Amino acid sequence: MTKCTQRIEALLRPEVRALSAYHVPDSKGFIKLDAMENPYGWPKDTVDLWLEQLRGAEPNRYPDPVCAALKAALKAANGIPQGAELLLGNGSDEIIQILLMALRPGGTVMAPEPTFVMYRQISLSLGLPFIGVPLRAEDFSLDIEQFCAAIERHQPSIIFLAYPNNPTGNLFDPSVIERILALAPGLVVVDEAYAPYAGASFMGQVGGHEHLLVMRTLSKLGLAGLRLGFMAGPPEWIAEFDKVRLPYNINVLTRISAEFALARHEVFAAQVEDILRDRCTLMAELKTIDAIQVYESRANFILLRLLRHDATAVFAALKAAGVLIKNLHPNGGLLAQCLRVTVGTPPENRRFLAAFRQALEELS
Ligand SMILES: *Cc1c(COP(=O)(O)O)cnc(C)c1O
Repeated sequence: MTKCTQRIEALLRPEVRALSAYHVPDSKGFIKLDAMENPYGWPKDTVDLWLEQLRGAEPNRYPDPVCAALKAALKAANGIPQGAELLLGNGSDEIIQILLMALRPGGTVMAPEPTFVMYRQISLSLGLPFIGVPLRAEDFSLDIEQFCAAIERHQPSIIFLAYPNNPTGNLFDPSVIERILALAPGLVVVDEAYAPYAGASFMGQVGGHEHLLVMRTLSKLGLAGLRLGFMAGPPEWIAEFDKVRLPYNINVLTRISAEFALARHEVFAAQVEDILRDRCTLMAELKTIDAIQVYESRANFILLRLLRHDATAVFAALKAAGVLIKNLHPNGGLLAQCLRVTVGTPPENRRFLAAFRQALEELS
């Protein structure tokens, strides 16, 4: 062992040593359908106006620590109830981290699985026990009896429910979430990262349950590069989590750009309409392929399972054809032989479909 690894062993928590870093593949030159980004940029005159706004930024000064105007715009654009407060994060990933950093040591974190990997990853990096409760294998729905039994057994401090779920794309039954809310001894965080595409939300219920928090992000809407997430909840909870937040977590470029974008909500609304239409087209095309099982989606991506091919081989063939999607097969369990494709522009979707059909043919 070198001196360096000796010191690492001596100083760091074993949970951190056991983790692997969140892997992001190099996507340069690929048709990028791996990360649930909105494929559309802004019209040129909008870009010009945006750059004009950025002239007002003062990079020599610390950013606004409160972001009152940005919060007001987020509240208006997201139908956040009167009386609810907002916490802002450098992406909703940071909000997950803030929530978990504030828990008592040993506080249990629970989520259905498969789900968004950061719930587990951040829990483990902070040394918090994480309990994953398996979803139903047929359709990735919540098994309410099993989930309630797990709540009673583990008494979780916090439960994360991605609504709709990533990487499966489905919405959990809202009445099942109501039952979880009724039974949960701790916090319930409904993660609505895909709210623009879902047509369903728990936002209206914030304040109606003192232990319900609803988290969203601008990433999947079309501003992934800005890193802005937010969480709505009762003021008492938000005030506590705000103590854990680092004072300047929203940088000046993000604040100005997000305010600018929220004032042009119609640009994004039109893009979302296009993406929803193209999700429908892509879904219909995929359903004509009989070597796969396609899952319903309420998000801007589609999960599918290969019934007769090896997912890793198909993923590699797509990559060789210049199309990058997400291979979920290495996650194992219920995601064996699964691939996830983000809805792109119509030409990107056609390129994907052509490459996918060709890969299936060549590999049979
Ligand atoms: C993408 C995603 C996030 C993370 O969003 P950021 O704001 O970009 O950090 C959170 N939750 C779910 C379910 C997601 O799919």
